[in-house]
Amino acid sequence: IPSGKDGWEVHFAAWQRKEAGEPVIMLSVGDHDFDTPVETVEACVAAVRGGHHHYTPLPGIPALRDAMARISTQCTGVETTADEVIVTPGGQAALYAAVQGVLDRGDHAIVVAPYYATYPGTFRAAEADFTVVETRAANGFQPDAAAIEKAVRKNTRAILINTPNNPTGAVYTRAALEGLADVCRRHDLWLLSDEVYWTLGGGEHVSPRALPGMAERTLVINSMSKSHGMTGWRLGWLTGPADFIALTVNLNLVTTYGLTDFVSHAAIEALNNGYGVREIAERYAGRRTVFLDAVRGMNDVTVRGSEGGMYAMLDISAIEPDDEKFAWAFLDAEKVAVMPGSSFGEAAAGHIRISLCQPEDVLREAAQRLRRFASSYRS
Ligand code: PMP
Repeated sequence: IPSGKDGWEVHFAAWQRKEAGEPVIMLSVGDHDFDTPVETVEACVAAVRGGHHHYTPLPGIPALRDAMARISTQCTGVETTADEVIVTPGGQAALYAAVQGVLDRGDHAIVVAPYYATYPGTFRAAEADFTVVETRAANGFQPDAAAIEKAVRKNTRAILINTPNNPTGAVYTRAALEGLADVCRRHDLWLLSDEVYWTLGGGEHVSPRALPGMAERTLVINSMSKSHGMTGWRLGWLTGPADFIALTVNLNLVTTYGLTDFVSHAAIEALNNGYGVREIAERYAGRRTVFLDAVRGMNDVTVRGSEGGMYAMLDISAIEPDDEKFAWAFLDAEKVAVMPGSSFGEAAAGHIRISLCQPEDVLREAAQRLRRFASSYRS
């Protein structure tokens, strides 16, 4: 069960008001405002018409595993073969497979915060214990290896990270990842690395899997949801050592019994031809620039993280330290829905998360409303 119910209450209230006809700008959700690229849709229609209606191999259709392995090679910088990937219905299911595979009841994991809302529930589903280690906003939400190492216990099996990060938009630096890798090697830990936003990064994407001695202890969570504009199709995969991946086939056996046949065929086309990838990355880069440029001039709002992914994180504590109160007041006064930072963990308290899931002109308008709200809130 996701934590952060308070943030979701703002989101649902905003959604209801929008449904009732209010001109609410929804910047609280993490889904695209545009449809899947038409080439991918056409590939799926052709697959349906072409008789792809049957069970598929549990680890994935071979051509799909090949295509995913090729993308993993690009994403992680480590030459990846088909037996090092397993297909899953979405990145969330890849994360679930990783957590189920690595952690038994009573084992312990470390989660770097702020984190994506499903992480606690995914550990609880494995009956595993976890410690949350906060990053610091002042440090751009980069992970601190020394703080993480302090949380390592005898029964710790894994560290879970996410870069580019949801909710902060932080893109972890090579130095920060090297620090984490060092902790993993010295304490013999798995590193679970959620890289579903890797194509939406601000610069070079660094995967910890490429660091020395890490390929054998890193499990990478990948997805076509964000990179290929396919959130509703449920396409993801897990990359890791071939012997670990072979074991996770058992999980597919007892849960999904394989992916949807025609969806798999559309995914092969989308991966092999890169449908939408560059356009989507450029769209988000443009939106990020437009929005951040519009708020950077405000002296009571500070941009933190916000280098990649689909989100921007704004420190609004100079206007109102209670981020939840801020989000409700901003929604009431200016009809803009944002997520209170504290619903993602302590480190993001006093911040709001802005989803860049709206066109540039809407983001410009939202920034203008934020400026107006800030000056009227103070007076
Ligand atoms: N990880 C992160 C950080 C996410 O933000 C999301 C989706 N919002 C996921 C994993 C899961 O994505 P999906 O299951 O759609 O691939």
